[in-house]
Amino acid sequence: MLNIVLFGPPGAGKGTQAAKILEKYQLIHLSTGDILRSELASQTTLGLEAKKYMDKGELVPDSVVIGMIESKIDSNAGAKGFIFDGFPRTTAQAKALDEMLEEKGAPITMMLALEVEKEELIKRLLLRSKESGRADDQDRSIIENRIKVYNNETAPVQGFYEAQGKYEGIQGMGSIDDIFHRLCNAIDLKK
Ligand code: ADP
Repeated sequence: MLNIVLFGPPGAGKGTQAAKILEKYQLIHLSTGDILRSELASQTTLGLEAKKYMDKGELVPDSVVIGMIESKIDSNAGAKGFIFDGFPRTTAQAKALDEMLEEKGAPITMMLALEVEKEELIKRLLLRSKESGRADDQDRSIIENRIKVYNNETAPVQGFYEAQGKYEGIQGMGSIDDIFHRLCNAIDLKK
């Protein structure tokens, strides 16, 4: 299996690049942000509870997102592999993911981390807010909080994969196609 963690701050382009990668390598896309937004659209208890955190740019509790990912992995038993997008976002989530995949005998192949400067992130998210309708994209102070939460709680996940020799930084500035080619080169070297 090819199991990729796509990593990077909000606005780094994870969703855009995930769509291109999964088409080329026939993988299943697991985006915790997308799953949470679809729970919210269906007005489930989980979705309504998660909204309280998402609207402020805070993280949803680990137990909630870990349970969600586990059930998605289980319901895609025949998959060639997964792209994890927006997960793991804490070291506890990364450890839980390793345990789940160990049971399946299909560990994480690599973490691909999109590197983008802070001012560019804010610019992209404010631009996205015009089409996405996402509450957490509309306001500069919420965006700044998401980047702060990323730096405090999520950035340490990099070290978790570095220690396993699985971390790969990718320059995330430039055209969508150029970035995609950089990602494919890194994947093809590891495959
Ligand atoms: P972005 O990468 O642009 O911040 P996402 O769609 O990945 O957007 O996530 C949106 C929000 O959903 C986050 O700010 C957070 O509240 C919640 N969320 C998504 N994934 C996780 C996760 N793995 N752990 C905790 N909260 C999450």
